[in-house]
Amino acid sequence: MISRRTALITGGAATAVVAGGAGVVGLAGRENPEPPSPPSSDGKGHTLWRNWSGIAHSYPVQRAAPKDAAELATLLKTAPAPVRVTGASHSFTALCATAGTLVSLDAMSGVIGWEGDQAIVAAGTRLGALGPALAEKGRAMANLPDINKQSLGGALGTATHGTGTHLKAIHGDVTALTLVTPGGAIIDCDAQRRPEVFNAARVSLGALGVISQARLTTTPNRRLRRRVWVEPFEESLAKAEERWATHRNFEFYAVPFTGLAANIAHDETDDATENNGPSEDDALLNVLKGLKNVLGFSTSLRKAAAKAMLGGVKPETAVDEGWKLLSTERPIRFNEMEYHLPAETQLAALQEVVAVIEKHRPDVYFPIEVRRIAPDDAWLSPFQGQPRGSVAVHAYYRDDYQFFFALIEPIFRRHGGRPHWGKLHSLKGADLAALYPHWTDFLEVRRELDPEGRLLNPYLKSLFGLA
Ligand SMILES: Cc1cc2nc3c(=O)[nH]c(=O)nc-3n(C[C@H](O)[C@H](O)[C@H](O)COP(=O)(O)OP(=O)(O)OC[C@H]3O[C@@H](n4cnc5c(N)ncnc54)[C@H](O)[C@@H]3O)c2cc1C
Repeated sequence: MISRRTALITGGAATAVVAGGAGVVGLAGRENPEPPSPPSSDGKGHTLWRNWSGIAHSYPVQRAAPKDAAELATLLKTAPAPVRVTGASHSFTALCATAGTLVSLDAMSGVIGWEGDQAIVAAGTRLGALGPALAEKGRAMANLPDINKQSLGGALGTATHGTGTHLKAIHGDVTALTLVTPGGAIIDCDAQRRPEVFNAARVSLGALGVISQARLTTTPNRRLRRRVWVEPFEESLAKAEERWATHRNFEFYAVPFTGLAANIAHDETDDATENNGPSEDDALLNVLKGLKNVLGFSTSLRKAAAKAMLGGVKPETAVDEGWKLLSTERPIRFNEMEYHLPAETQLAALQEVVAVIEKHRPDVYFPIEVRRIAPDDAWLSPFQGQPRGSVAVHAYYRDDYQFFFALIEPIFRRHGGRPHWGKLHSLKGADLAALYPHWTDFLEVRRELDPEGRLLNPYLKSLFGLA
């Protein structure tokens, strides 16, 4: 969002305003202790599985990495249940936790064919590896999320998305897929062949079977110009709709307790590559954490310091191929809640979220991410039926995140939000049935494909109202 260069340029101002010259790096040092880690083994020889942020874990009795769909089919039919498939384990919830079998598709990776400009991609492929593989053919994915560590199957599983009014979440570009079921069937489906499976499986939380491969629409591999700038939050709010309408990709980050927002736009260009250095967003986070630690007792001082530091920041630009520019690194671990709101309620919900954080949670310093996503028709897609705007709240992995549920989620729910499937939320069967017109259709396909519930772990049972 903002580079170390930017933070350093403004560091002098911070030093002057904050604690009479203590310096930004020193300020960031005071933090909560490391949360306790679960043991690396359960004492019976079963090794720990843990998600990226560290809040979900389990001890699978069996692990497997099948090499093809036939091997996967046998495994799903015979391995100890619950059988869960994981990609990069970057989801924040316990979707992949299992005391049974944990399946990885790391051995089923790569672009395995082309049909015109559509790529057939093995579902274990990491998004970061897909970029260069498609670029060899002059093609690219239309859009990418903030990071590219996810597997294709995992990204589809939770409706992973980027930002752009005319750009769908990744599953919106899937035109066919192969699903291997717990009964050992290998089903090829698309809009004509087994359409009910296609509609249910494009976003399925790994609850119908395991996708072994998918056919993806691609776009020409164009260079994009990225522009990043900081301005008053009110200005970002006032101009957001116009910016979503005009930029290929647009998002902004509201920075609580500062009155500021960082904006990021990407647009196609024929200009030469320039200035795409490593992403160093953690520099800004450290600055914000420092302000919180030292000036958390006074919102007005914190605002003044942040304005002095960030207010005069010059816009930054970079030009490169989209697959190199759209995703960046996230070296600082956090927990996250993200809801997808109807476009017309998104900004009102955002304003309430910022107000409630500034009123009740002076310890929060992570910026709040605001994106827009085009609609699609997958049954469990949060973007099913209408364009949606996402609002995401983060907490450093050592910090409390219960305020997501107590303070933030009620706002999202009041504004008609649907939760990101891979991020924290508390919704269950009846709540979800009210948000998704095809909820019972999905459950029916699930029952048909997995009548014995071999894929259901406790988290999914409770989500589907089957616990
Ligand atoms: C730092 C960070 C940044 C993020 N940025 C974004 C972002 O910008 N946009 C966004 O939308 N999300 C984002 N996320 C969330 C992330 O994209 C999702 O949680 C995604 O599902 C993770 O992919 P994964 O490969 O790790 O999947 P996992 O977490 O391993 O699995 C996710 C789900 O998919 C299922 N699954 C995995 N493979 C298959 C398969 N082959 N067939 C069927 N089901 C399968 C799993 O069983 C599980 O239910 C971010 C997460 C982190 C930690």
